[in-house]
Amino acid sequence: MTNKLAQEEEEQNEGKCQTRCNPVLLEYSSSIRGVLAMLLSRLSPDKSVIPLGHGDASSFKCFRAPLNVEDALIQSTRSSNFNGYAPSYGILDTRRAVAEYVSSGLPYKLTYNDVYLTVGCSQAIQVCLTVLATKGSNILLPRPGFPVYETVCGYNGIEIRFYDLVPEKNWEVDLDQIEALADDKTIAMVIINPSNPCGAVFDYEHLLKIAKTAERLDFPIVSDEVYAHMVFGESKFVPMGTFASITPVITLGGISKRWLIPGWRFGWLVACDPHGILKKGKVQEGVEMLMNITPGPSTVVQGAVPSILKDTSKEFHENILHLLDMAADICYKRIQKIKSLCCYSRPQGSMFIMVKINLSTFKGIKDDMEFAFRLVEEESVVVLPGSTLGMKNWIRISFAAPIALLEEGWDRIESFCQRHSNV
Ligand SMILES: *Cc1c(COP(=O)(O)O)cnc(C)c1O
Repeated sequence: MTNKLAQEEEEQNEGKCQTRCNPVLLEYSSSIRGVLAMLLSRLSPDKSVIPLGHGDASSFKCFRAPLNVEDALIQSTRSSNFNGYAPSYGILDTRRAVAEYVSSGLPYKLTYNDVYLTVGCSQAIQVCLTVLATKGSNILLPRPGFPVYETVCGYNGIEIRFYDLVPEKNWEVDLDQIEALADDKTIAMVIINPSNPCGAVFDYEHLLKIAKTAERLDFPIVSDEVYAHMVFGESKFVPMGTFASITPVITLGGISKRWLIPGWRFGWLVACDPHGILKKGKVQEGVEMLMNITPGPSTVVQGAVPSILKDTSKEFHENILHLLDMAADICYKRIQKIKSLCCYSRPQGSMFIMVKINLSTFKGIKDDMEFAFRLVEEESVVVLPGSTLGMKNWIRISFAAPIALLEEGWDRIESFCQRHSNV
């Protein structure tokens, strides 16, 4: 081999070595799905699995989507009107239907111009943060929270500043901390209401305080309302958009959770901007530029959405909320009986409860990760370690499960805790 050839080969090899993954992505190896997959690979061979780790209830028969939703998709498909590409921001009639749906309860009416249709609420998060990202910017995210926000901030170069949700105060926002964290580079504050992972629902007064704080500090609120209307007991769902005349609100939502069809991948981003502040900052323009170059939700699903939003019976929603309410109650009561676990408030919405592990009462379990791994190995009960949500030594339990299965899960968790107790 001549020197020249050898040199060329070496250069080629070097070229190969330069084929590398974006390192930002590798930093997020502790995603919820990653950890849950690891847990599921460690099930006890002797016991059936009780999956309380994820947020997808659709595999359980009692949480099946209503028939009218399935029919709407069949009709949309059969009409053959929805086989083509949809417009970038979504089909007009579907945007109108979403505008009407999200307007309910607001003191003003949204129009289709305020609505952008996305691939699940996840894409709404991506679009929103990508558009708001500017050089040197930071954002206020809740802790505990939803890890997708961190990942998207990571690859958009947005600095993350976590604010705490206070467990002793119904998981309300620590507003003093917001004042301390924000500066003139803060592009927004994210709230998730009803809350994943806390099961909390903010009341009117607290939301008003959040809006006034944001107004004073001069940033918009990004309100993740993918669990909108999924509240039970005494609580009421108040959309953040109610306060958009105080500070602009970008509302993110979708049909994944309330209609139990997360696999259909349909969500939305809505600009609640009655004073045109976002418009002045060209935020909508940015959203449109981005959506012109990214694929949106499937056209047939878009075709089905107006009927899904309008024609689903009240009884269906009430029945699901009744099930979730009972399930929340069971979790709360069972936790009170287990000395080594603690929960500060009964969930009022969504499908999650955060449980604190009192580690000093355990022998040989050092943190939430070890708790979750031992629990799955010994009892085949899957729960999500709080570390994945920024809450070390807590766990998140999804209670969207059949009541009998949930009770069985708690029996096993209780006997696990007794077995490993040092008191
Ligand atoms: C599930 C979830 C999402 C994502 O919703 P999809 O419609 O499934 O993309 C966004 N935010 C929160 C808080 C969620 O729990």
